[in-house]
Amino acid sequence: MKIISTPLQLKDYLKTLNKTIGFVPTMGALHDGHISLIKKAKEENELVVVSIFLNPTQFSKNEDLDNYPKKDEADKQICKLSGVDVLFFPQAKDIYGNDEVSILAPNVRGFVLEGHTRPSHFNGVLTVVNKLLNIVSPTRAYFGKKDAQQLNLISLMVKQLFMNVEIIAVDTVRESDGLALSSRNAYLSKQEREEALKISSSLHVASAMISKNIFDASEIKNEMLKVLDPLEIFYVEILDNNFKRSVHVEIGNTIILVEVLVGRTRLLDNIWI
Ligand code: AMP
Repeated sequence: MKIISTPLQLKDYLKTLNKTIGFVPTMGALHDGHISLIKKAKEENELVVVSIFLNPTQFSKNEDLDNYPKKDEADKQICKLSGVDVLFFPQAKDIYGNDEVSILAPNVRGFVLEGHTRPSHFNGVLTVVNKLLNIVSPTRAYFGKKDAQQLNLISLMVKQLFMNVEIIAVDTVRESDGLALSSRNAYLSKQEREEALKISSSLHVASAMISKNIFDASEIKNEMLKVLDPLEIFYVEILDNNFKRSVHVEIGNTIILVEVLVGRTRLLDNIWI
């Protein structure tokens, strides 16, 4: 596995290869969710590039940038063992200059849900993903459905900016008890880890109702809120695939999303119906 830290070196290296490239952008502290993206990228491409970059612009001042879990050496080993060909490991100074052009998330989709409580978050996400896609020029780029709003906005950006990359959505990987894997799970105490199970349980309740032909969004939402109680809730939403609020669940065109605070940790999850 080759480790490269500057954009120009990476561009120069990839230019010589003439292979299909699968790209997996991450912020590190890798877990089985990231590995499933890497596996899919390996299946579908001749070469796999993973980036590990803790992107400062998607964190606001009072968020967890400084405390975000860092596991650089373990991450390198995981990439090597997963068959990654190139690991891109830049510093912030390699990615950002002093006077930046800005990319703005669209109002309707970027400032609801996660973007409502973190208004600069998706501008930072789109900016860094745009930069990374320009550096790597991948054939395909892989993103987790767990971050459904991020996936939706990146797909929109790629379409609207006519970018030459296929965005591939990958299913959420969970612990055996249902908790969605997340680098932030490392913050949870034993008791908080238990409480966090309410998130996947609430989604389970929703899908059980739907399988009994209950499609009314507010009825489903009410049952989910009961399961999530007493966690602090950022949102429970039932949306269509374009992130518009749905009154009724429509099979094949509904995403049910939850974001809550467990202790001091924001956790999100969703299911696609
Ligand atoms: P992050 O390092 O948190 O920025 O995540 C990098 C990529 O991994 C994103 O596309 C995430 O959506 C994806 N990802 C994170 N957790 C999971 C998971 N549990 N299952 C599948 N993909 C995930």
